Amino acid sequence: MENFDTGIIGAGPAGYTAAFHAAEKGLKVVIFEKDCVGGVCLNKGCIPTKTILHSSELFYDMKNSAELGIFADNVQVDYKKVIEHKNKVVEKLRKGIELGLKNSKIQVVNAAAEVVDSHTIRANGEIYNCDKIIAAVGAEPKPLKNMDFDHKFILNSDDILNLEELPKSILIIGSGAIGVEWARIFSNFGVEVTVAEFAAHLLPLADIEVSKRVERIFKTKKIKFYTGTTVETIKGNEVTLTNGEILTPEKILLAVGRKPVNTEKVDGVTYLGDVCGSIQLAHFAIKQAISAIDGVKFDETLVPSVVYGTPEIAWVGKCEQDLQEGAYQKSNLLVSALGKSHCDNCTEGFIKILSQNGQIIGAHVVSKEASAIIHQVLIAMQNGITVDKLKEVCFAHPTYSEGIFESLWRVS
Ligand SMILES: Cc1cc2nc3c(=O)[nH]c(=O)nc-3n(C[C@H](O)[C@H](O)[C@H](O)COP(=O)(O)OP(=O)(O)OC[C@H]3O[C@@H](n4cnc5c(N)ncnc54)[C@H](O)[C@@H]3O)c2cc1C
Repeated sequence: MENFDTGIIGAGPAGYTAAFHAAEKGLKVVIFEKDCVGGVCLNKGCIPTKTILHSSELFYDMKNSAELGIFADNVQVDYKKVIEHKNKVVEKLRKGIELGLKNSKIQVVNAAAEVVDSHTIRANGEIYNCDKIIAAVGAEPKPLKNMDFDHKFILNSDDILNLEELPKSILIIGSGAIGVEWARIFSNFGVEVTVAEFAAHLLPLADIEVSKRVERIFKTKKIKFYTGTTVETIKGNEVTLTNGEILTPEKILLAVGRKPVNTEKVDGVTYLGDVCGSIQLAHFAIKQAISAIDGVKFDETLVPSVVYGTPEIAWVGKCEQDLQEGAYQKSNLLVSALGKSHCDNCTEGFIKILSQNGQIIGAHVVSKEASAIIHQVLIAMQNGITVDKLKEVCFAHPTYSEGIFESLWRVS
């Protein structure tokens, strides 16, 4: 039996951040991981998807570059190599975390662990005594009532990462961030994509104008989608949707959300990240972990969301549909008003800022580099910087950031 100050179960973003932060404070830390360090984010989520997305965008751009005076003949995809490259990126980053844990003198136990009581963890038949226990065991793909994963035809977000070849067609059920990103990846590679979304709009958690813009982008990219629609029945490879449409896709990606890993909550144990079932994002898990170790709260209403692809989609704060008409001011600047968007041949999108009494209460960006520029508004919101104060900043030209500046001048 060994004694530790902090025992952490799960080495995803929540777990490893808590471990690093606790070790920095001089605490003796042990972390348990039954699979790979880095968790879903590094091994099955954020990093692998964005790596494959990048390959798909490169392919799409090379195929469509003639308009810009670049001719690339016979552009081909070797999807096995795309996946090999993704695996290399993941492995490299995983080794970085493993090395960091070693350098920080954090004991890593590669095993499934269980909480015995608020000060005891059991793994591999050994008992670990810990002053404080953190459980950061994550979440897993959720099936539908009438539809479970068979991992061959009906795939989840883990299965889809390891396809050896591109399907000719795919039906994606669910249009949250995961569904939208994969729709864009496959569409870039020339796969015939159909999306079925149960809610009235794509990206149902986004601002309504963002959702509508995504629908427009999908139409331009020839990604078929049905809203207010789900799957009625599946017989063989024949899928009947609730709107009567019958499809015969080569694969189905079921992306209807993630459920917290089933774990019995023990009093006195701190639960962090996806297992809490609130905001399931890596940066939220990271902030929660730092906050738990420091014992300091953070503003959980100011967590940005990003959906990757071209153009990117990012938002923070209030959505327009949540506000009472007339009780707020807004601006809406088309990205095509920015010189840089024409330079980059990427004029699709808008930058919307919502404010109340001079304070920014929300920002919604559909634009190239949206993932970067949303932080400028976020920093202002976090620090109570008003619309007028932010307007005093000198933004560089030509950039997408100056879209924030231009947008601020239009708030009315
Ligand atoms: C396809 C996809 C794309 C995503 N893209 C993004 C994105 O772009 N941006 C973003 O912010 N978020 C994204 N996410 C969400 C993000 O991955 C999660 O929010 C994040 O990984 C949550 O971190 P966590 O530490 O709570 O849990 P996890 O990352 O799930 O880590 C939990 C760890 O605990 C381990 N574990 C579980 N039970 C035990 C046990 N009993 N003993 C030992 N170990 C155990 C698991 O093996 C796992 O490694 C994406 C998710 C998916 C699926």
